[in-house]
Amino acid sequence: MELRLILGDQLNAGHSWFRNTDPAVCYLLAELRQETDYCRHHRQKVLAFFAAMRAFAAALTKAGHNVCYLTLDESARWPDLPALLEAQIAHHQASSFAWQSPDEWRLANQLAQWAAGLTIPTAEVESEHFLTPRDGWQRYPHSRMEFFYRALRKQYKVLLDQGGQPLGGRWNFDSENRAKLPERQPIPAPLFFANDVQDIDAMLTRHGVKTLGRADAGALPWPLTRRQSRELLDHFLVHCLPHFGRYQDALSEQGWSLFHSRLSFSLNSKMLHPLEVIRAAQSHWQANQTTITLAQVEGFIRQILGWREFVRALYWEKMPEYQSTNFLGADRSLPGFFWNGETKMACVRHAIRQSLEHAYAHHIQRLMVTGNFALLAGIDPDEVDEWYLGIYVDAIEWVELPNTRGMSQFADGGLMGSKPYASSGAYLDRMGHYCKGCHYQVKARSGPQSCPFNSLYWHFLWRHRDKLGANPRLALPYANWDGQPEAQQQAVLATAEQYLIQLEQL
Ligand code: FAD
Ligand code: SF4
Repeated sequence: MELRLILGDQLNAGHSWFRNTDPAVCYLLAELRQETDYCRHHRQKVLAFFAAMRAFAAALTKAGHNVCYLTLDESARWPDLPALLEAQIAHHQASSFAWQSPDEWRLANQLAQWAAGLTIPTAEVESEHFLTPRDGWQRYPHSRMEFFYRALRKQYKVLLDQGGQPLGGRWNFDSENRAKLPERQPIPAPLFFANDVQDIDAMLTRHGVKTLGRADAGALPWPLTRRQSRELLDHFLVHCLPHFGRYQDALSEQGWSLFHSRLSFSLNSKMLHPLEVIRAAQSHWQANQTTITLAQVEGFIRQILGWREFVRALYWEKMPEYQSTNFLGADRSLPGFFWNGETKMACVRHAIRQSLEHAYAHHIQRLMVTGNFALLAGIDPDEVDEWYLGIYVDAIEWVELPNTRGMSQFADGGLMGSKPYASSGAYLDRMGHYCKGCHYQVKARSGPQSCPFNSLYWHFLWRHRDKLGANPRLALPYANWDGQPEAQQQAVLATAEQYLIQLEQL
């Protein structure tokens, strides 16, 4: 008997392991306390992972495979994964053990170290999910995501003409991805699945698993199977893709996912393959070119073929050092309102409340609202990471860490992005509708009612001039700062200092 481990984010039905059934192979899936506890997760996230694992195990059994599934009730006897595996090897009298490469450094390291001490033959195999190998950083141009992305467009022949050139004559339609959402723009209703996971919810309560956020366990909205994931993909193609690129950067209280796909959980749990999603988007666009422009589909494909593969390559190249980078030396505590949404800043309140409610925020909320605030306020990246790793249904370290430490907090000093994603309130006002109803005044740079993003933005640039002053992409804002009258500069800095003292009260 060979025992093969499948981790909770390895629900890849297309893996070559499953091509044939073999009575001499047993697949092991286990709900693990070490996974519920390494960070405080959103309840919807734990429910979604365990429920999707159960559905995957049932599908494997139905297809004729031997499956050993351990619920938390059963696995709680062992303190961690190695102890559980040792017991299962003995129980199944396994003569060999195999596992798919974990995507997280933490688990990869734990399994490799443990397996090295085994006396039976072991094999680590590819997870067969990504479009680039783990050492992709070394194999592809990586100075910027754009070059990485172009190489992959060529390799996988995505959105290319017969001569291998980009369709539409451009690799990137980013400049067309920045429209503000018109007030009366209809937004498609998100597709929910209403999965009943009350048994898992009761089990989490029974075991005292500490989670955050809200969950309706009688109607969990996330896709839990490949079939539901494909349905969500189809829903996205028909209802959201026509406007995806245009409103990709938009912020609005009118909806919580706007034209975004909400496919990240299906992708990160591997129920969907990235190439399958990319090809489906390209085909749908090809068949509907009268209603969907190239800029919409390119904007979407770039996220999956470009950013998703790029962050994974960066993660594997730079771990484990990456998880403690802190280029800007940020050391303030994360304000308590990140955990309850109790803040007077309308934009931050909306992003946090919807994250607690839905275990989801779209990219620009994560980057330019909560992330931007944490960056400007100088919050310790360890605390920022902990929050992002816990709160989102799609949060797995390989993708969360480079996005949070790198892209959002500039803690890696510029590996993810060429400049910090820092902005004043003017950007948020331009891209969203929050400011009108906010306690703070977005046009005011200083004073007790001024938008905190304004003074904190200038304070951020001012206090990090030694590290950021020579960055050519920041030449304009620094010139703007230098051109401001000294009295105005002093008023802005004094307001920011006051806000930094009173972070909890903002
Ligand atoms: P869409 O906007 O519909 O995009 C389609 C897909 O593209 C996503 O499902 C995702 O797989 C991929 N994608 C888009 N942007 C990125 C990106 N920057 N990096 C990697 N993949 C991307 N994404 C996660 O999957 N897990 C995380 O834990 C995570 N943490 C983040 C933390 C911060 C601070 C920031 C700024 C971004 C983070 N992202 C993370 C990236 C991105 O915000 C989410 O992938 C996206 O919001 C998921 O929603 P969606 O499926 O509707 O995405
Ligand atoms: Fe956010 Fe400032 Fe606008 Fe308020 S005024 S919603 S804090 S950007």
